[in-house]
Amino acid sequence: MHELGIATQIVGVVTRVKEENSADRVGLVTVDIGLLAGIDRESLEFCFEAITKGTALEGASLRIEEVKPVGKCRKCGEEYEVRPDDFTCSACGSTDFDMITGSEISIREVEIESDEEG
Ligand SMILES: [Zn+2]
Repeated sequence: MHELGIATQIVGVVTRVKEENSADRVGLVTVDIGLLAGIDRESLEFCFEAITKGTALEGASLRIEEVKPVGKCRKCGEEYEVRPDDFTCSACGSTDFDMITGSEISIREVEIESDEEG
């Protein structure tokens, strides 16, 4: 299951952030997921919750921000949104392009909380 592997990687990074900051809890974890990454967001949310349950990350929640795929035209250099059903350049009509974003999975923000006392 693809999403389980992704969730495991996210949990690994978040755990490191938590430890490096000596935080007591993790709140909201925001991740950018490219629409071409082939991730089912409900599955990813489910996996994240399943593997954080009963761990130091229990209570953390995952927020998934979908990133629209953007391509850069090789002919005219225009950057435009690539749609699954139409990937022609919006400026010159070429279909020769390089993908810039759309398949990435990255952690944008990790909210950490610490108890004041102690
Ligand atoms: Zn173009």
